[in-house]
Formats: sequence, C-alpha cells, structure tokens
Amino acid sequence: MEKTKTGKQKPAYGMASNCAFMISRAWRDAKSVLLICAGLIVCTVAASLLELFVTPMILDAVGRGVSPGELTVLIAQFALGLVCVYSFQAYLNANTLFGRVCVRRMLAVEQNLLECCTAYPHIEDPDYLKRLAEAGRAHSTNNDAGEAVWNTLTSLTSNLVSFAVYLLLLSQAGPAISLLTAALAAAGYFAGERIRSWRYRHREEEGRLRRMSDRIVYQSQSPKLAKDVRIFGLGPWLLQLYDKYTQMFEDFCVKAQRRYLWADLLDVALALLRNGAAYGWLIALALRGELSPAQFVLYFSAVGGFAQWVTGIFTDLGALHRQSLDLSTLREFMAAPEPFRFEDGAPLAVKPGHLYAIELRDVSYRYPSAKADTLSHVSLAIRPGEKLAVVGKNGAGKTTLIKLLCGLLDPTEGLVLLDGEDIRQYNRRDYYKLFSAVFQQFAPLPGTVAENVAQGGDVDRERMWDCLERAGVADQVRTLPQGENTHLGRQLYLDGVELSGGQMQKLMLARALYKNGPIVVLDEPTAALDPIAESKLYQKYHELTRDATSVYISHRLASTRFCDRVLLIENGGIAEEGTHDSLLELGGRYAYLFGIQRKYYAGSADLKGVADHE
Ligand code: ADP
Repeated sequence: MEKTKTGKQKPAYGMASNCAFMISRAWRDAKSVLLICAGLIVCTVAASLLELFVTPMILDAVGRGVSPGELTVLIAQFALGLVCVYSFQAYLNANTLFGRVCVRRMLAVEQNLLECCTAYPHIEDPDYLKRLAEAGRAHSTNNDAGEAVWNTLTSLTSNLVSFAVYLLLLSQAGPAISLLTAALAAAGYFAGERIRSWRYRHREEEGRLRRMSDRIVYQSQSPKLAKDVRIFGLGPWLLQLYDKYTQMFEDFCVKAQRRYLWADLLDVALALLRNGAAYGWLIALALRGELSPAQFVLYFSAVGGFAQWVTGIFTDLGALHRQSLDLSTLREFMAAPEPFRFEDGAPLAVKPGHLYAIELRDVSYRYPSAKADTLSHVSLAIRPGEKLAVVGKNGAGKTTLIKLLCGLLDPTEGLVLLDGEDIRQYNRRDYYKLFSAVFQQFAPLPGTVAENVAQGGDVDRERMWDCLERAGVADQVRTLPQGENTHLGRQLYLDGVELSGGQMQKLMLARALYKNGPIVVLDEPTAALDPIAESKLYQKYHELTRDATSVYISHRLASTRFCDRVLLIENGGIAEEGTHDSLLELGGRYAYLFGIQRKYYAGSADLKGVADHE
C-alpha cells in the first residue's frame, strides 16, 4: 500500500481494477460464475418489477370493468411470471457456490505457491509474514472477499438497474418526491454506516482477540505440547487464559452490538420521516384528483422500493470497498518483487562429475531485526571436493554461514561465488539443485517413506534402498508395517507411523543422498542420533560425501578429524582454521573446547567407548 499525504495507507489497486481482476479470474477459472451473476441480476430486477406492477394493474383492470375471465387471465399471467422468476432464481442460487469456490481456491493456491517458492529471507521476515496473513484474508473462509464479492456485484448491479427504473417511474409523480426519498435514504445509510463501521475500523483488535483465544485452543490440543501439559499440569492455566481471552472477545462483541442498536434506531427514525413525507405528498396528489387509485398504489409501493434500492446501492458500495481493500492487499502481495532472481536469472545446469568450488568473499550478514552483524567480513574459499567442517558455540553463526553458502540468504555485504561467478546472477532454483542438505529442523511431508526419500511420487526403488542402506536406516524401514510404503505421521493417516528423532534424521540423510547433489551440506546431522549411530556416520563420512564438495557442522569436535579442514567460528568471524590435529597442536580455543568435551566423555562410563574412539 502507498501512503497518502495524511499518512494513511492507500491501496495500490482501486475498486474498479479489483472488480475487473475478479471478473478476469472468473473468465479464466469458472465462466459459470459470470453467467449465474447475470442470471440473478435479471431475475431480481424482473421479480421487483412484477411485484411492483401486480396490484396497480389488477386495480386498473377492475377499474376498467374487465370481465372475470380476463381478470383471472391477468392474475394468472402475473402469478406464472413470478413463479418462473422465483424458481429460476432459486435454481441459480443453489448453483452459485461451485464456480465461486473454484475462483477463490485458485487465488489461495496461487498465494500458497508464491509462499512456498518465495525467497527464503521472506520466511524469516516478520513484515512479510504479516503481509502474508493479511493477503490470506481475501480468500479465507471467514472473510472471503474472494467469494462474497460476487454477491456484492450481483446485488449492486440489480440495485442500480432497479433504481434507474424506479427513478423513471417516480419522476412522473414529480421529481421532488424522488429527490426527497433518495436524499433521506442516503442520509439514513451514511449515519447508520458511520456507527456500524466501528467494527470494521476495529477489525485488527477483533482479529487479535480472536487469535489469542484460538491460539490457546490450538496449544491445548497440540500433540507437541501434550506431554508438557500433562507433566507440568498446565491444564488449569490454559483454561484460565482461555477464559480471560474469550471474556475480552465477548466484551468487544457487546461494545459492537451496542453501536448496532443505535444504528438500527436511527434507521427506523429516518425511514419514518422519509415515508411519512413521501406518502403525505402522494395522498395530497390523490385528494386533488391528480392520481388514479392504480397510480396511487403504484407510486405508494415505488416509494418504499426506491428507498430500498438507494440504501442497497450504498450498502453494496460499502461492502465492495471493504472487499476491494482485501483484494488489493492480496494483489499487492502477489505483485511484490522477489529479492532473488528466479526464472529471470541465468540458467545453471548441474554438470555431472564436476566438483564445485564455493567462495565467500568478504561476506557480512546482519538479520533484518538485529543490531549487529552475525558474520562480519568473512572470507572463505572451499576447494572443489574439499570436506570442510565448521564448529563453534551455539549462536556463533554456523547455520547462518550455511544459509549464505546455500543461497538461502544473500550477504548484506560481500559476495558468494560458485566457481568464481557471483551466484546472484543465476536462477536461484537452479542453484539449489546443486545442494544435498540435511538441516537441523526437519519434518516429513505427508506421504510414504519412499516418497519422502525420493522427494515425490516418482521413486527409483533401487536407488532409494541404496540410500536407506548408506544412511543406516534400511533395517528400520524394513520392519515398518508396510515397509517403504508406510505413511509417515499420524496427523493425516490412521495407519501412519511416528519415527523417532534419530530415525527421522537418518531418513533425511537418505533423502539428501538420493538427491545426489554435488555439494553436500550437513548441519548437525547427528544431533538426534545415539552414540553408536553417530560413530558409524563419522566412519562412513567420506563414503557419503564421495564425489562432492561438503560442509559439515558439528558440535562434536572429534568428528572433524574426518574432514580436510576445520573452521572455528567465533565473534562473527573465523577464529581458527586448520586440520583437527594442527588445531590441537596450536593449543588455542579449538584445543581448549576439545579438551572439555574429551573430559566429559571420559568421565562417563557409558560413553567411554566413544571417548576412546575419539
Ligand atoms: P549457530 O548455528 O552457530 O548456533 P546461528 O547461525 O543459528 O548460530 O545464529 C547466529 C546468531 O544469529 C544468533 O545470535 C541467532 O540468535 C541470530 N539469528 C539466527 N536466525 C535469526 C533470525 N532469523 N533473525 C534474527 N537473528 C537470528
């Protein structure tokens, strides 16, 4: 949104543009939506005209002294007309949802795709996440501008057409009467709307209150928290919080309801004034003999209808304005530029058998919300085929370094080079194809073991089993109820299994091996493994990273002896660098940290074997 001179946010897309956008989407995704809207407009206008003319026409016929037979035919014609119009309207109404849901769903799919594929820094950017949530309002099931806009457009067009017809009709009784009725109806609408819009103006507060109580419900039902809730007896506390937040939400609703009551009272008072004046005028005309009984009844009904169309037009414009704001927010989100180059970047094909070199040249990185650089002026050249280990305390910046190497973040200063070329020029999706990675946080996708390893439904079984073997998890997969076809996770599948943290970590390693990228990145790949599995992984490290350049983050300093070079990251930079043995010889920070770990393992009888191994 742009800012206006008064500092208010101005939507980038206006009402007309958003209506055109939705109409073009319906034309593309579900043309039936447009046909049904057009049909409903015709039915609404036809029904209102039939209702308006039925009594005056019958009165007129009686006045003209037509025969009972003719009168019956006239009544039957009106009745048939109304039955046809209402039946067709009911049929159309029953079919409105199908196409509309499809258009709304396509908007949601488009936003979800953008969200899935957007540049990684967005995912860590609170401002992006806020815009994402706001954009979702346009197609959420609670506040679905993406669907309700069709009702608004249908109703607005019907009201405008009916308004024009009634205006023409009433102006025959005198322009003053139409002007007065329209002016009082508009005044009633604006005064009422000013009061009713309180809830809209306070929608952020409403959303916040609703989210707080929803959050408590979510947390109390979350399987992740289920153990904590029971062991720490968090139930009463959660209940207390739920009571507190629902009470706050209820207080908000009561405040809004009080305002609605005032709006309704004002409506009634203005309707009384409007109809009183208009009917008085008509009665005066009738008494002067300027109106026949049929004309009197026609204009009398038209006055009520006319005010209804005027109020309807303003109500619809108000609703359309709000829906347009939501649609504009969504469109602005969809049109926002990406910080990385994707399809507009240079293509980068993986060269089979080629060993890649990566270099960080004078790289600094500062997180958007941070006051200081996490990494400052780091220069590092990883040779083709080199096995690099990165160690350091928690929070030293190891994962940040990996994110920079993998192209998940771009440096705030400096360059990342692949074989000497700045990676920013490439299609970033192509660049990611080079990496086989296991990160600290992982979650299986809702699918089978095989699909998770092969990253999709197209599974090369032989290769998958080879990778499962190399990752040391093949035997465990064989014992699962349906072997590699067992579903992971119980949230979606009744027959799904929950793997242990260690099993899952090995599965993620198998996935990385299956991808067979020429650059292997392992961020604490043994954090969830038992000491024996961990030790086996160290021994196999060279075999796992064969034909690849690799970067390995570890807390266990001894594991670095399997690497060609070790970096110790501290205070935002590379504090020490060398092989495991040369760093021990140096007797600096690395040697000190290694000494502490060694003492710890030597002190534990259970882990003695591992310490000896180290
Ligand atoms: P390590 O992997 O060595 O434990 P990280 O690279 O994860 O360290 O984090 C380095 C520092 O950057 C830490 O102080 C951490 O709090 C901070 N940090 C990590 N991610 C973010 C983020 N998304 N926003 C702000 N600060 C972050």
